[in-house]
Amino acid sequence: MIGTKGTVVAVNGNMVSVRFDGAVSMNEVGFVKLGDKKLKSEVIRIRGDISQLQVFEVTKGISVGDSVEYSGDMLAVEVGPGLLGQVYDGLQNPLPKLAAVAGNFLERGVYLDPLSVDISWAFTPVAKVGDTVERADTLGTVPEGAFTHRIMVPFNLYGTYTIASIKGAGSYTIRDTIAELKDEKGNTIPVTMSFRWPVKRPIDCFVERYKPTEPMVTRVRLIDTFFPVARGGTYCIPGPFGAGKTVLQQITSRYADIDIVILAACGERAGEVVETLKEFPELTDPKTGKSLMERTIIICNTSSMPVASREASVYTAVTLAEYYRQMGLNVLLLADSTSRWAQAMREMSGRLEEIPGEEAFPAYLESTIASFYERAGTVRLRDGSIGSVTIGGTVSPAGGNFEEPVTQATLKVVGAFHGLSRERSDARKFPAIHPLDSWSKYKGIIAAEKVGYAHGFMRRGSEVEQMMKVVGEEGTSIEDYVIYLKGDLIDSVYFQQNSFDAVDAAVSPDRQKHIFAILLHILASQFTFPDKNEARSWFNRLRQKFLDFNGSEWQSERFVSLQKEIESTVSAQSTGLDKAAEKVLA
Ligand code: ADP
Ligand code: MG
Repeated sequence: MIGTKGTVVAVNGNMVSVRFDGAVSMNEVGFVKLGDKKLKSEVIRIRGDISQLQVFEVTKGISVGDSVEYSGDMLAVEVGPGLLGQVYDGLQNPLPKLAAVAGNFLERGVYLDPLSVDISWAFTPVAKVGDTVERADTLGTVPEGAFTHRIMVPFNLYGTYTIASIKGAGSYTIRDTIAELKDEKGNTIPVTMSFRWPVKRPIDCFVERYKPTEPMVTRVRLIDTFFPVARGGTYCIPGPFGAGKTVLQQITSRYADIDIVILAACGERAGEVVETLKEFPELTDPKTGKSLMERTIIICNTSSMPVASREASVYTAVTLAEYYRQMGLNVLLLADSTSRWAQAMREMSGRLEEIPGEEAFPAYLESTIASFYERAGTVRLRDGSIGSVTIGGTVSPAGGNFEEPVTQATLKVVGAFHGLSRERSDARKFPAIHPLDSWSKYKGIIAAEKVGYAHGFMRRGSEVEQMMKVVGEEGTSIEDYVIYLKGDLIDSVYFQQNSFDAVDAAVSPDRQKHIFAILLHILASQFTFPDKNEARSWFNRLRQKFLDFNGSEWQSERFVSLQKEIESTVSAQSTGLDKAAEKVLA
């Protein structure tokens, strides 16, 4: 297999056609030789003795007759201790090191070790000589930051093995042999702390996959209460440029109740990824007070990298997420923005002259997006522990039109939809998740009928608001006007959340349940006002109190006294409870 050679017969942007002699397989890595450089590429089509390769680098200078070496390996990542805290490009080059070695990001054909070969890791064996093991079984552990990193039997070793030798507790690098395994034929296989896994093949070393049921708490009220995300589930955040997709993902990566965050950043603008790289290391982990980077991996595209590397970023990111899931950890993968990846697919498909689908995206757009999100999931491992990968992807449709193919294809497969609204972000109502268009199929932290009752006021309030635009305030009944005010109250004090306020930025599930119950009681209360002005100013005062309440430390003196004030304000005005609400209030 190794050693197949070929010759470039055509160059078409980032795609080269290569005539080869020997065996070549789909998704195999090939290197196009350009002087003393070798540019990494991936086989994306084979027809007879012609293969098409997408080149992960700028193809300038490549011409017909240049030689190509096929590697015999699939596009793969290296996994092992030392991944956390890294910033990689789509080909798993550590970017800070690449910048130091190559001087700038434009240097082509430079590929570096993804993991440090110098670091000594404190290994503790878990298995012993004579044990029978299978792929992904734990041989030992090393501490990696706050986590226990499992050193596992490489996932590509199928079958059963007997441990012939294993290192005692001590310090080893990822290149040291830490165990020797004997297969059924008596061959000895040395094992180190790292190995490679092809990015396009899901890691499947688990016993069972569960339907996601447990909420992944984000501490964003709108998400946890109204449009929840499940651990091991999937969700998408479509929104026009500037509506707050990236900020929302940053908030989530900081506060979500998960172990590890993997960020796949394909920026909208060239500068955006740079901003992420600058800002992220400065964020602190609210759980530990340390840098958030200690439990984060960032995979990003530099502006100089061609579109093919966007695709590589997405697959590299999900493979690393699956690897940490094998340790019984909960991993959150955030991809921003999947539209850039889809555009890369479109570009390549065009170069391959495939029959285009809607808006010139390839016909396989939907199935490719589906198989990406299908890599999320909660799984039970062989040792009984449970791990999860949750995937959240942003989509940036042109003009914010959700009818376009990428948004639609994503909506078909995800479990929750957080649609961002231009109208709300322009009005600085953050997070700008649309309260009426968004949905979730998952179970949240508050019973569905309670949530439904509250959501009904949002919907009816918005209907009244629309109507008022036509008939004016005078033409609206006071009853309808109060519904509108109630809807506006939920929007202002519950849906919107101030990410700059130390207290309001992240709200625990207990606090959400607590304040939701108060809010529900207000919604179910019947109020009589002499006129709309009185009604409006009463709700304005209540809203202000509630906002102060939101800003007060959980269960502090101020919190307790503001709650009392809110409750007495409400009971002084209330004439009783809505009969229909009895069940939801119970
Ligand atoms: P997108 O990624 O959708 O293009 P961004 O996430 O970059 O948009 O947000 C654009 C701007 O909107 C931010 O720079 C910020 O000023 C504002 N913004 C977005 N989300 C919030 C938020 N939750 N709280 C306050 N401001 C926000
Ligand atoms: Mg963005």
